[in-house]
Amino acid sequence: MNGTGTVHVVGAGLAGLAAAVALAAAGRRVVLYESSQHAGGRCRSYFDAELGCRIDNGNHLLLSGNRSAMEYLRLIEARHTFESPGEASFPFVDLTTGERWSLRPNRGALPWWVLCAGRRVPGTRAGDYLAARRLRDAGPDATVADCLDPHSTLYRRLWQPVAVAALNTAAEAGAARLFWPVLSETLGRGAAACLPLVPREGLSESLIDPALAMLRARGADIRLVARLRGIRFAGNGVRELDFDNGLVDVAEDDQVVPAVPATVAARLVPQLVTPDDHAPIVNAHYRTTISPGASGDAPLFIGLIGATAEWVFRKGEVVSVTVSAADTLVDRPAEELGAVLWRDVAAAYRLPQQPVPPVRIVKERRATFRATPAQQRKRPATKTRWNNLLLVGDYVDTGLPATIEGAIRSGLAAAEAIARLSGARIARGRPGTDSLERSDDTRTGADDPKREAARLAR
Ligand SMILES: Cc1cc2nc3c(=O)[nH]c(=O)nc-3n(C[C@H](O)[C@H](O)[C@H](O)COP(=O)(O)OP(=O)(O)OC[C@H]3O[C@@H](n4cnc5c(N)ncnc54)[C@H](O)[C@@H]3O)c2cc1C
Repeated sequence: MNGTGTVHVVGAGLAGLAAAVALAAAGRRVVLYESSQHAGGRCRSYFDAELGCRIDNGNHLLLSGNRSAMEYLRLIEARHTFESPGEASFPFVDLTTGERWSLRPNRGALPWWVLCAGRRVPGTRAGDYLAARRLRDAGPDATVADCLDPHSTLYRRLWQPVAVAALNTAAEAGAARLFWPVLSETLGRGAAACLPLVPREGLSESLIDPALAMLRARGADIRLVARLRGIRFAGNGVRELDFDNGLVDVAEDDQVVPAVPATVAARLVPQLVTPDDHAPIVNAHYRTTISPGASGDAPLFIGLIGATAEWVFRKGEVVSVTVSAADTLVDRPAEELGAVLWRDVAAAYRLPQQPVPPVRIVKERRATFRATPAQQRKRPATKTRWNNLLLVGDYVDTGLPATIEGAIRSGLAAAEAIARLSGARIARGRPGTDSLERSDDTRTGADDPKREAARLAR
């Protein structure tokens, strides 16, 4: 095997697309298969007949410090499709007190912003922020709440809402080790890494369509409505892919990259252990005639404290609400949710409480795996015991929770590993080997101990 054959990427979500574009950019022949009629998986836009406009399946916020996502945007030339408030500023409102503030980290390595009352959360002191370093040294079983004081104002007004959004898990259950990199790669690096980026038109227009266009331009073969139902192994590798619409031979030098959700991967790959406990996300999309942006001072997004709605985003006439780890909401009727969440949106954006505008409630019951210590232990590495099979997806052990950044990082890491076989390098930046090995000391596979030692030393 010299690593110059075709790469079969199965699944056109962000992880599969990231692997495919990086490999295509490195000159590899790529075939991308996708079971549905469209690419994007859990990150896409579609026309909603109820509202009469396009909506995203959820609100997805990127930050400039998401280095893998930035590398992906560079590869697909789509950075310009995002809008940003222009500064690293995170607006919040506490609906129990009516207080409003913006968290504003400063430029540069020294976080002097915590010394300025006007830049930090009201009711907190500079020293409170230093406690976040306990997350860095957390053990594998520690939760976010074990490391940070759950009775503090900072916890209620910052750590908890950010942890729930990033981990899709309550802070009391979420793994501290997964929260630390989210903070250290963004807030911990100052304003330059904290610029919020929101797709100007939609998730598909920013993250999916440009990737498909780039792949087509590079001659990749994109096969939609191609569902992989089985993988045939022989000796140490994959020899055949069994799709609904026919068998595909895997040649000696080919590589296979399943980029499917955890539950599908567990069915396709023998003895694969994956996270198996998933948490819901509920989104509400309202079409308003009174756009909150019309006055010119309404933020692109705002975090809500003391409310049912958690984060609210505005885009043209559509105002969207996200509630993560929404176990207590997901079974409530859509009409009831529409009314409850609008109360919070109206208060946050100072819009009329009545009438409730037309709304589409989107319930993703299995949005992502719960980022708990127990689920973290079940995440597999990219490398498998087969010599031509590499796993990618947000469930693979990237050291990050299930996010856009995590999904893309796993795709880029697999592409880098495949490119190395042929002596090529994949991309600038540092997609690196992040998820090739498991990220913690609970791994069970027979991976190379020397490489693991090097990783731990980094
Ligand atoms: C409502 C919601 C809100 C979110 N909000 C955020 C956020 O704000 N920030 C953030 O960073 N992340 C967010 N996420 C998480 C993020 O969207 C996911 O982590 C990421 O999109 C997962 O990408 P993936 O490629 O790993 O998986 P997927 O997107 O699930 O892609 C897998 C692909 O494989 C295809 N497939 C499945 N089975 C087969 C088969 N047998 N054969 C061929 N193809 C198959 C699927 O159709 C799909 O296209 C959110 C997720 C949801 C659901």
